[in-house]
Parts: sequence; C-alpha cells; structure tokens
Amino acid sequence: MSETVNVAEIFGENVFNDAVMRERLPKSVYKKLRKTIVEGTELDPGIADSVAQAMKEWAVERGATHYTHWFQPLTGVTAEKHDSFISAPDTTGKVMLEFSGKELVKGEPDASSFPSGGLRATFEARGYTAWDCTSPAFLKEDATGVTLCIPTAFCSYTGEALDKKTPLLRSMQAIDQQALRILRLFGNTTSKKVTPSVGPEQEYFLVDRAKYLQRKDLIYTGRTLFGAMPPKGQEMDDHYFGTIRERIGSFMNEVNKELWKLGVSAKTQHNEVAPAQHELAPIYAEANLAVDHNQMVMETLKKVAGRHGLACLLHEKPFAGVNGSGKHNNWSITTDDGINMLNPGETPHENIQFLLVLACILKAVDVHADLLRQSAADVGNDHRLGANEAPPAIISIFLGEQLEDVIDQLCSTGEATHSKQGGKLMTGVATLPDLDKDATDRNRTSPFAFTGNKFEFRMVGSADSISSPNVVLNTIVAEAFKEAADVLEKAEDFDLAVHDMIKEMLAAHKRIIFNGNGYSEAWVEEAEKRGLPNIKSMVDSIPALTTDKAVKLFEEFGVYTKAELESRAEIEYETYSKVINIEAKTMIDMAGKQFIPAVIKYTTQLAQSVNAVKSACPVADVSVQTELLTESSDLLSEAKVALANLVEIDNKACGMEEGRAQAVFYHDQVVPAMAALRAPIDKLEMIVDKELWPMPSYGDLIFEV
Ligand code: ADP
Ligand code: MG
Repeated sequence: MSETVNVAEIFGENVFNDAVMRERLPKSVYKKLRKTIVEGTELDPGIADSVAQAMKEWAVERGATHYTHWFQPLTGVTAEKHDSFISAPDTTGKVMLEFSGKELVKGEPDASSFPSGGLRATFEARGYTAWDCTSPAFLKEDATGVTLCIPTAFCSYTGEALDKKTPLLRSMQAIDQQALRILRLFGNTTSKKVTPSVGPEQEYFLVDRAKYLQRKDLIYTGRTLFGAMPPKGQEMDDHYFGTIRERIGSFMNEVNKELWKLGVSAKTQHNEVAPAQHELAPIYAEANLAVDHNQMVMETLKKVAGRHGLACLLHEKPFAGVNGSGKHNNWSITTDDGINMLNPGETPHENIQFLLVLACILKAVDVHADLLRQSAADVGNDHRLGANEAPPAIISIFLGEQLEDVIDQLCSTGEATHSKQGGKLMTGVATLPDLDKDATDRNRTSPFAFTGNKFEFRMVGSADSISSPNVVLNTIVAEAFKEAADVLEKAEDFDLAVHDMIKEMLAAHKRIIFNGNGYSEAWVEEAEKRGLPNIKSMVDSIPALTTDKAVKLFEEFGVYTKAELESRAEIEYETYSKVINIEAKTMIDMAGKQFIPAVIKYTTQLAQSVNAVKSACPVADVSVQTELLTESSDLLSEAKVALANLVEIDNKACGMEEGRAQAVFYHDQVVPAMAALRAPIDKLEMIVDKELWPMPSYGDLIFEV
C-alpha cells in the first residue's frame, strides 16, 4: 500500500501562486501584479525587484539553490538553463544568495542553437526570455535539487517570437478583445475579460524500461520501427477502462502527487484502448496555463516512469497495428465573471448570443480548416490521422442532434422554434435511478466535436505541444467575431441584423457539419464533394501556414508576422526531414547490425541441422526445414536489397538542401523505402527462433509491463 496523501495540503505547494503572493508581497506590489495577471494590463517594471526578492526567499526556504527561465522553443519541448542564487564570494570567502528584478524579468540565453527558421543567423545569436507573470513560477524537484522555474516567453533580438508561448499570449489577447465586443452587443457591460479555457486529455504508453533499453528504435525515435503483431492485439477491448495493475497504479499515484504539488489539477486516469496505453486528464485551465501544465505533465510522466523501472512513450504511434495516442484539446471561452460563451443553455434555439458564437465558430473552422489541420500536424501524427482509429485528416464539426436540429430549422424556415430535449433514460431496474439524458449522444469519430459546453479538437498528437492548435483556434474565432462585430455594431435594427447574419453564416458554412461516421470511406467521398480539404500528411499541411489568407489573418491580430510564419514553416520542413532521417538511420543500423546477423545465424544453424540429419540418414524427409530455409533466405535477400536501397535513398536525401523539396523527398521516397525494409524483417521475426531474435517483441513490450 502506498502512503496516504492529503491532496488539499500538497496541492500547489511548489507554486508561487496567488495565496503565496498575497502573503509575501507588499500590498501595493501585490495589487499591481494581480491587475496585470487578471486584467491583462501592462506589467509595471517597478515591482520586479520586490517580486524577485519574495520569490527567492520563498524558493530558498523550500530548498531551492538555482533558478531558471523556463521556456518553450520551437523544438516542441521545454528549455531551461540553471543559475544558482550565489553571488561572488566576498573578501572573507562568503557568498550571498541573490536574485534581482532584472534577473526575474529578462534572461538572455545564448540562443543560437534553438530553431529559428532563418529568423536569426548564428552570428546574431541574441535571444531574450521575458517573464510571463500570468503563469506562476514553480519549484521543480529532481536529482539536480530544487530549482525555481520562471515561465517565460522567448524572442529574438528584433522581437520575433521564437517560441510557442508568445503567439499563444498574443492570440489570447485577440480573442479577448473580439469576444468582449460580441458580449457588449448583447448588453453585457460587466465582463472585463474573456479567456479561452483548455483541458487536454493526454494519452501515453508505458513499457518496461529494461526492454525499452534493448530497442534502439524506441531509444532514438520513440517508436518501434520494426515489429510483428503478437497473437493478441487490442481486439478483445479488455484493456479500455480495465483494472489498473499494481505497477501502473503506483506509477500513477506518484505522477499525481508530483503534479498536484505543481498545481496541476490531475483529475482523471484510466487504461486506454491499446494494451499498455493510458490516459491522464487535468481539470481545464486558462489556455496559457494549460499549455504550460501539459508540458509539465509530459515531463513528469517520463521522469516518474524512470523511477518505476518503466519508460513512458509519448509518441503518436509507438506500435504499428495498435492504436496510437492523441491529445483531445477541449476548448471553450469564458468571461472573468464565469460566463461560458459556449454554453447553449436548456433551449439553444432562444439563445441568440450562443447561436451567433456557434455560427462564428462554424465559419472560422470552415474558412481555416487547413490551418487547424496544420496545427495538429507533427511527424508522429502522420501515422494516425486518416487511419481508422483516429480522426480523419478531414476537418469537420460534430454538433449533435439538438444543435443540428436548431440549425436545420433556421436554415429551412428562417426561424427556430424549439430545441430537442434529452428526456429520461429508463434502466428497467427498479432499484436503479432513472437518469437525465443529454440532448445529444457522442460521436467518437469527429475531429472537432461539440461536447455540451466546449469543443473538443481531437486531432492533436500526444507528443506535441498544444500551443499551436490553441493559437489557431483563438485567432480564427477572433477573426469571425471581429467580422460579425464590425457589421453588427453599425446595425440599425440589431435583432434583425443578428438574425439575418446567423442565418447567412449557417447557410454558407453548413458544409463543415458532419454528424456521421468520420472513419468511413463514404465520408471521404462526401467531403470531397463538399469541397472540404483532405490534407493527408504533415508535409502537405505546411503550405497552409504561409497562404495569403493565413498571413492576413495572423498579421491582422498581431499573432504572427509574415516572417514568423515563414520561419515556422521552414522549421516544420526541417523537423520533418530530421525525424525521418533519424528513423531511416536507426533502421539501417538495426537491420545491418542486429536483424540480418541474427537471421544469418538462424539460417546457418538451420542449414547445418539439415546437413547433419542428411548425413546421419540420407533418406530422411527434411522438406519442412528446407522450405523454411528457402523462405528465410529469400526474405533475407529481400531485406539486404531493401537495406541497400534505403541507404542510397537516405544518402541522397541528406545531400539535399534543407527546405520543402527535401521534406517532400523524405516523405515520398525515404518513407516507402523504410516500409520496404520493415516488411521482410517483420516476416522473419515470425520465423526465426525467439532466442535468436535480438530484441523484445511487440508482445513482450505491450503485454508484459
Ligand atoms: P469527456 O470529454 O470524456 O466528457 P470531461 O468532460 O471530463 O470528459 O472533460 C475532458 C476534459 O475537458 C477535461 O480536461 C475537462 O476539464 C475539460 N473540460 C470540461 N469542461 C470544459 C470547458 N468548459 N472548457 C474547456 N475544457 C473543459
Ligand atoms: Mg473527451
């Protein structure tokens, strides 16, 4: 049994949160900082020293020796460079512990090694990190000791964003401003701020660490590049919501404790569909915090796994043929006084504000489906999107029966007169309670589903930062709000104008609504008829970043400049090429040094045994052995040829200049060459003696954790 925990007591104990600030900061300083955090007003630089002092004292009392600006460069993971609090020793050899306002507010990492996509040449290496007071500082406890982490934004000498946080904060400002305009139109004079809320559901796999270390593919690429399916896969559906085994349970227990201390509200945990797959969901938070917290969740899962003799795989597709992992991004927009603008209420047909918001979201998603799709693109996700387990690569919206019915009424007669209600669910058992039914069932196959009072964007990859999808969501919805407000603010008859506008928008963008089975072939055809984009790969998605439409959108709301968009596109192409190159090189290494030698050993032993039998008894029937020998020798030559081919094609790819053409070449040439090498080796795995096979199999990895 694990020790008991007092959750309420440990929750947030490692966070410099509001309660700590209120207690430790001078009143006037606290008030000013709070105003910036809550209302989004400009940060007063005069308070920095005082905040730094309090932060340092608090951190040192809790054992901190170092501080770091914690940021999110375009590598997709977080970065930190630790500095200790010590000053230079004085004449007596003693040191003081120091931390100034300047050190809190600004950092200057030598940033030339972070991806910048051409925004900065290496000789112009300066980059700055700037304190983001809207995400509280926290203490990280690990083998290095205790470190005070200050969430920061990271930008270049010339002010371009080099990270995932800056554009997110900019997009949050954009939706705040435009959503307030919508609220004011409906007579709301009290709400001061609108914030997107995000709850990301994180999926992951756990495998035994000792086995993980025997697989170079897992070590170098986070996924298996070879592997035959075990006799049992996920067909029994017996893992989903299954009893959590002891070893996994003790891992989850520690993860929760670590996260609670960091103020991450880890809430839900369960086994997922695939064997060895699990999920963790926090309670939703403001978008910026949710993005930071999700990074902490991913880091904590990995760190704690190591302590339990496990390895956590965050990759979108660690095992071919087994369900992959995603991250459902639940998104809504809420005012500072608690109004969720996505709440339809009991009778959505009468809720004009909600219908306008909904129409704006339909428009935003329809117009910018390509950008939304792009925001969920990463190399690993190419294995999921469009395969029969994850959302299709086509963006569509699921609204559910109730809302679809309201929209149908509006589109057909121009008036919506009623809303379908859920009614009661009768269990047929007297002792069981009758349940109130939701007005709408769920649809698991939709990439963008309305789930009661939020939208759930389900395309995001499990290993990816959730920043980009939220940047896109916030900005495209801000644009639709702006276009609506521009017209409605000038309308003479508001009621009439808003009514007409909703009808027009719904009619124009209805094609994005799809309530059917998103995994079916029929939908692919239907979507094509509707003119909805079906962007199948990451490489194909990247041009969406730099279209005139995208540049206009992001520049209008100050979220990205054209140069920033171009740099991001460039980084995505580079990332794609690098990842595939590492995968190809790993396959070459494993095939050449591990699989082929193992198969040679096997065929040699087999041939020797055939000869031995033959010489002992010349009339013995060795046809089965000979058949196996022929089969494995054929597969061996197929593998040899495929290996030589992959080496050649990958070399060619490496020799190309970085950019789109290279990424396209990796996608079109190298990826198929990798598949051609994998095929014979997976077949050989089914033939060759298990003792001779040089690494743990799929079965060993996913059923024996
Ligand atoms: P499900 O999607 O299975 O219904 P939940 O409703 O519990 O599960 O929510 C899944 C995630 O969505 C959780 O992280 C939850 O906190 C988050 N969530 C719930 N309501 C909202 C909301 N209004 N806005 C954003 N996220 C939300
Ligand atoms: Mg969900």
